Amino acid sequence: MTSYTKPLPVIDGENKPFWEYCRQHELRMQRCQQCGYIRFPISVICPKCHSMDTEWAKLSGKGTIYSFTIYRVAYHPAFKDDIPYVVAIIYLDEGPRMESNIIGCPVEDVRIEMPVEVAFDDVTSDVTLPKFKPSHVEAMK
Ligand SMILES: [Zn+2]
Repeated sequence: MTSYTKPLPVIDGENKPFWEYCRQHELRMQRCQQCGYIRFPISVICPKCHSMDTEWAKLSGKGTIYSFTIYRVAYHPAFKDDIPYVVAIIYLDEGPRMESNIIGCPVEDVRIEMPVEVAFDDVTSDVTLPKFKPSHVEAMK
């Protein structure tokens, strides 16, 4: 049914909840039940206190751009029609950093420390990717 040709995440037992919540358009990450640390990437134990007691906490989906690059060359043929596009490290309000695309604005508008919020992209019937767009606050300025 789909002609999506870009690489897709490998969804396995450990990361399955993360991707299931993305399909429901919720950004959730593991929060340690012992010390409260929210961690990403996904791991079995808390890197701060080594507890395995965790819950999937719903995040605000808001953050700021920590760093980014503009891709002007398609290193994979499926991205040919997307260039130029932005790959960024987003510093989430709850602490973790994650890599994603910045969408919804021209690439030349992207700035370090720009406020962004998650924008879910249903790329296939099974996979929803969490991307980020400029936040409404920034867009109204
Ligand atoms: Zn902990």
